[in-house]
Amino acid sequence: MTDVAAVVVAAGRGTRAAGGSVPKQFRPIGGETMLRRTLLTLVQDAKLARVQPVIHPDDHGYFQSAAAGIPTLPPVHGGATRQISVRAGLEALSDTPPDVVLVHDAARPFASAALIARAVKAAAECGAAIPALPVTDTVKTVDAEGHVDKTLDRSILRLVQTPQAFDYAALLAAHRTAAAQGRDDFTDDAALAEWAGMKVAVFAGEPGNIKVTTADDFARIDAEAFARLGDVRTGSGIDVHAFAPGDHVTLGGIRIGHTHALTGHSDADVALHALTDAVLGALADGDIGAHFPPSDPQWKGASSDRFFLFALDRLKARGGRVAHLDLNIVCEAPKIGPHRDAMRDNIARLAGISVDRVAVKATTSERLGFTGRGEGIVAYATATVRLPL
Ligand code: MG
Repeated sequence: MTDVAAVVVAAGRGTRAAGGSVPKQFRPIGGETMLRRTLLTLVQDAKLARVQPVIHPDDHGYFQSAAAGIPTLPPVHGGATRQISVRAGLEALSDTPPDVVLVHDAARPFASAALIARAVKAAAECGAAIPALPVTDTVKTVDAEGHVDKTLDRSILRLVQTPQAFDYAALLAAHRTAAAQGRDDFTDDAALAEWAGMKVAVFAGEPGNIKVTTADDFARIDAEAFARLGDVRTGSGIDVHAFAPGDHVTLGGIRIGHTHALTGHSDADVALHALTDAVLGALADGDIGAHFPPSDPQWKGASSDRFFLFALDRLKARGGRVAHLDLNIVCEAPKIGPHRDAMRDNIARLAGISVDRVAVKATTSERLGFTGRGEGIVAYATATVRLPL
């Protein structure tokens, strides 16, 4: 039986191409962080026992949430180039060397288990193997002025993907030799293997195994994922907490300085409680009090993130995702406006959706009723979710 491990390269910065400030491998795509989808493919679909992520030192927080519940090896830190990052992953496996190692890009979340099986088989036979597709478009080279220089023979060209698969010992030796000679600029492992004199076999890649690169890629894949979820549901939630002595409230996970605090058994975040009930409502799956009884002392002072994430997990377990969240907060004070975008960002982050799918609105009640008298805060939330039909 061939012992197989995989190195997943997720150390890139990649913030510019995909838009936003989060590296693209940690951005949501089709309802899940891209890296999470990639790791699930290797661990769950292809059933690989050892998957070695390589991440940037700044990204541990992102990694923890992306990989939650997925049994990978502890991540190691990458370097300035892809090649340095791959080598870090290979070295981390060296105490218990596998027979075959796959090197896979985090930005290819849609590789199938069948492709991965082909990669393992080809590497076990040939020592080095890469998935590739024929080129169907005509390919031309252009000169510095942007004029066509010549037309290439596309019959001998291939588009190369990952996972690339290698005899582990041979690839590690090639990486060490390249590093010792000051070469750290190979853009894929096959190029390094060729340089080291290894014969690299080619096997059939998959058109669906795309490298997610541009903001357009994200938008298109998101739209396709939504289209598959035809059961559209709406849930509503409402929550009330009373003011008590204190110096801040927590709304949507954001700490807001105030003349009072909100009382309640957890952190009394009315906004996240209303959102939690809205998501549970869309699932017809009880309410926050049924899942987290206020009589249970373990929720005393708890951050309300966990209640909201629990509801979102119930949604994910049914193959669904959030399409939109709309939150209304009613109080005379504190002022919500200055904190609106921070709340939207935090709620979007927790829900794994883009911030343009989260609305936060606020109003007073014109000094009428208990909110008008400044006795507490009410939050109303609406969640639109989509489930498979
Ligand atoms: Mg509550």
